[in-house]
Amino acid sequence: MIRQVKKGGKTLEYDLRRTERRSLECRMSEEGAVLFAPMRTKASEADAFILQHFDRILSSLERLKKNGEAREKQLSESLTDGALIPVEGRPHALRLKPGARLTARIADGEIIVTGAGRDAEKIREAVRSLLINRAKLRFQERAAHFARIIGVSYGQITIREQKTKWGSCSSRKNLNFNWRLIMAPPGALDYVVVHELCHLIEMNHSPAFWAQVEKHMPAYREWKAYLAQGIRAPI
Ligand SMILES: [Zn+2]
Repeated sequence: MIRQVKKGGKTLEYDLRRTERRSLECRMSEEGAVLFAPMRTKASEADAFILQHFDRILSSLERLKKNGEAREKQLSESLTDGALIPVEGRPHALRLKPGARLTARIADGEIIVTGAGRDAEKIREAVRSLLINRAKLRFQERAAHFARIIGVSYGQITIREQKTKWGSCSSRKNLNFNWRLIMAPPGALDYVVVHELCHLIEMNHSPAFWAQVEKHMPAYREWKAYLAQGIRAPI
């Protein structure tokens, strides 16, 4: 649940997540603040906790955001000929070629971009749309495959861009996946698909949920740990 707290003309937005736990804990990332709270926590109590730590949370969010922007800038500057971009876990060299039209394709283990010159933004745009399209197809294929095995049905599949969230599912059984998973080894992408499909049976992270995940993907712990490290790529 997204909530807002105001102090001295400043607004702090946070995500209130009630879980099986005993104390309140606020975690900050580039994507924002998440307050983990015990099930019985009232929204007003959560707001009061945020208000109490308002300045500290806000300054650390600002610092995280600044670091993220600096890293992104550095990354897009490294999108030059020969840069390695992983596709399904295997590094592919970026090849920049002249051309009238901006295109990108994968051939012989390389990512070939035409018509971008040395414009990092154009290169980024071409590679991203190539990978997003590939991710779309792969997620559709893998979701259909595992849904049959698990015995569930789902609605729409949407591909998103998020920094740390790999997937989610809605109460309407729609599935959202992060396109960046196409850069990870296939097992990691499969794990996220199985994870979200199992939420259609168990809408929580209870032991029963993890038992379902394990049943369909015995090695899930390995991929979960892999993804916790993030996907490193110059894009
Ligand atoms: Zn989950």
